[in-house]
Amino acid sequence: MDSRTSPGGRAHRDSEADDDAASQSAGQSRRNFLKAAAMAGAGAVVAGAIPAAAAGSSPTSRRDALTPKPLTAPKAARPGVARIDTVLGEVDPSSIGKVLAHEHLYVDFMLFFALDHPGYLKPVGGFDAAIDVISEYVMDVKDQGVELIIDWGCMGVGRSADTARKVAQRTGVNVAIPTGIYKWLLEPRFDGWSVDQLTDFMIEEFKHGIDDTGIKPAFVKLGADPVPTAIETKIHHAATQAAAEVNATVACHLPFPLDARTDTEIARARQIWNIARSAGVKPDRFVWGHANGAIKADKVSSAHLDSARAQYFELAAEGITLQFDAVGSDPTNGADPWFGGPTDPDVFLDVLEKFVAQGYGDRVMISNDCSVYVNPGGGIGGELLADYTSAGLPNWQYPRDIRYLFGTFEALLVARIGSDAATQILSQTPARVFSRVRTPSID
Ligand SMILES: [Zn+2]
Repeated sequence: MDSRTSPGGRAHRDSEADDDAASQSAGQSRRNFLKAAAMAGAGAVVAGAIPAAAAGSSPTSRRDALTPKPLTAPKAARPGVARIDTVLGEVDPSSIGKVLAHEHLYVDFMLFFALDHPGYLKPVGGFDAAIDVISEYVMDVKDQGVELIIDWGCMGVGRSADTARKVAQRTGVNVAIPTGIYKWLLEPRFDGWSVDQLTDFMIEEFKHGIDDTGIKPAFVKLGADPVPTAIETKIHHAATQAAAEVNATVACHLPFPLDARTDTEIARARQIWNIARSAGVKPDRFVWGHANGAIKADKVSSAHLDSARAQYFELAAEGITLQFDAVGSDPTNGADPWFGGPTDPDVFLDVLEKFVAQGYGDRVMISNDCSVYVNPGGGIGGELLADYTSAGLPNWQYPRDIRYLFGTFEALLVARIGSDAATQILSQTPARVFSRVRTPSID
């Protein structure tokens, strides 16, 4: 998902942020568990108690052929064994083939307009219509061999565990989703919450599942503006503390200023990585998402590019994973304004080849970061856009195709670095990064 700023006059409400949030020392012992608050949105559904498959809505020929059952039956957790918590229950990471490591099936931008916007999680046409559109695209990536989609949509930008599960059930392509809060987009239910309350809420989701769905998050997502606000920093402390306690990966959306071919992004990655490290997050549990900004060959000197890339390898040497995306930006569809695109595949290939050559082929991931269905905006194929227009809503959809990575780019990658190295990047690394060994004292 992009990190655009909203059109005209969004309300950050940063002034409401607790000053003590930013000053809370990371790694400090958390205060006692605030069950009453933390349980407010976390139902006590037993993990694995997944309801029967939801019936598909309007039939189409391909959907009708699908068998709505989980790919993998939920299994009891075994101590010390890594598992990926998906919307269909636990799966063994070693059994997973192709992975889309950073996508968004349903995205909701309505909180950018107002933190209590009544249209949040209410797409035009309803979720059934959105699920129809999403499932069609997911069937296309299933045809490409994709078995798991890592959906980075967290709270604040429309996380819908039930929608992800219905898509997985309908298509047979599994989905993993996060806990965490995007940037400063605190839903009203979190008004006035402390760092510790937010931490405990996220831990409760790992223990008992999201709301009343029984679906557990697989990882923790957070986001930051170019200069993190106080409330963002508060969320960063909460999210990284939660991740450290349950041994989950922190997937970090970082800014990619449109004109910034400077070191800004890398400095910001270090700043947030330092918060995570202080909270106890291990290097192999941290992903710098959208690491794209410094790899583009346009508008920068080769000397600067070399410097920026050298810093990638410094971070990789520390053990963190870098994740590149927007390979789905289609040059024939116009520039992708959120990445200053279009993005040249050869640039990605050059960088990935260098990661492999430097011995960091297992510390890099790549994906499209496509938003298949956006509220407001509709689906990437234009479905329902007329409904949005007639409802007076803008179109916040943008051209990026979830089918590009395995439809086009994979073959280029294999030709450049070989199939073993490509499999590492496109399957093994995301399966490892988004799996988790449970912490017996907690979950
Ligand atoms: Zn994203």
